Amino acid sequence: MSDQSQASGPSQLDLLITDSRLLDRDGRFDIGIAGGRIVEIGQVSTSSAARRIDAKGGLVTTSFVDPHFHLDKVLSRDYVGALTYSEAFARAREAKANFTVADVEARVCKALDLAVAQGLGAIRSQVDVDFATGLVSLEGVMRARERFSGLIDVEVVAFPQEGIVTDPKAPDLLREALRMGIRLVGGLPEFEANVEDQKTHVRTILDIAEEFDAHIDMHCDYTDLPHFKTLEMLADMVIERGLQGRATADHCCALAVYPDDEAARVIDKVVQAGISVIILPIANLQMLGGNGITPVNRGSSRARELLAAGVNVSAGADNMYDIWFRFNRMDPVDTAYMTCLSTGMRTNAEVREAFDMTTSRPARLLGIEGHGVDVGCRADLVVHTAANLVDMFRNVPGRRCHIKGGRLVGGVEGSTWTAR
Ligand SMILES: [Zn+2]
Repeated sequence: MSDQSQASGPSQLDLLITDSRLLDRDGRFDIGIAGGRIVEIGQVSTSSAARRIDAKGGLVTTSFVDPHFHLDKVLSRDYVGALTYSEAFARAREAKANFTVADVEARVCKALDLAVAQGLGAIRSQVDVDFATGLVSLEGVMRARERFSGLIDVEVVAFPQEGIVTDPKAPDLLREALRMGIRLVGGLPEFEANVEDQKTHVRTILDIAEEFDAHIDMHCDYTDLPHFKTLEMLADMVIERGLQGRATADHCCALAVYPDDEAARVIDKVVQAGISVIILPIANLQMLGGNGITPVNRGSSRARELLAAGVNVSAGADNMYDIWFRFNRMDPVDTAYMTCLSTGMRTNAEVREAFDMTTSRPARLLGIEGHGVDVGCRADLVVHTAANLVDMFRNVPGRRCHIKGGRLVGGVEGSTWTAR
């Protein structure tokens, strides 16, 4: 490549990815990128690219989107210690009350480093806003978000982790967060003591959402106890108030254990309310099964039935090394893979659906414009060593590199295996 050709070509590229496979097309392709967008896909003949990546026949996909994570709590498990679940909750509240902005910022930065390296281009994070942490956690996440600007997009949900009736300070704190520019309000009605209080919780959240013209992203029925009906409660109130299309429901695990006719009725309401659903298969696989219910559930709501009904269902990772979930490492391929396992998705089309639940479906939920691998789309891409999705899922962590806005921003080297 000569300096002259770089300067003179009419199609000067910032980046050229050669010899790549794509999900929906047969063959091998070059992908030309300029100005942060994909400008060419095919046999790109230009030699004037500032940078080149040889995909060597590997798959090039869009970057991943995690629609549900708790960034403020990552890596906080050691503050609480290895206690029983109920002991841990009380201690977690104390630990949270001692969070500082700098501490939250530092932990979130560690998590975002991992996320960028592994191909996450955007993340929607729930952030506790309650009597224990006030707005400290939110401030810490906002600072980390600023530091990662251009590397990963972080959308924040103001989340009343300690309830609404059980935490009378929460509504005003949520309002304050929304006045700071947060566009999403969360909820956790299941946390309240009885059904009336759950209704008050949902009603209050919808009031606040209406007041600020915000969207709703609510934890609904995160356990598999069939007497919890907060998904249906949310759907009923969304329909009643004409807020269709403005709410997302997370977990929805009780739906998995309702009798089929009840589940069908609730799914119908979810469709009418235009509610999007997020499953959290990794965290829920650990959480469910601890409630004494047999047979033990698989942790992922009725994802396939919701999808068949036309609901936009996405999958997120939820937590990393906090009291809610002990493990995780911010790898979106883990989430896609575990989506297959916990929902029983096994055909090629279903494996593809699980992948879409960590890419295009959450991108639609977050309203990310130009998310795709087509000319004109944003150059937010991942170049994988794997040549197809099954190989990607069975070779975690695998090797991949992450491109954001046409710039190489991170990568995973994978593990080295030695056969004896
Ligand atoms: Zn959550």
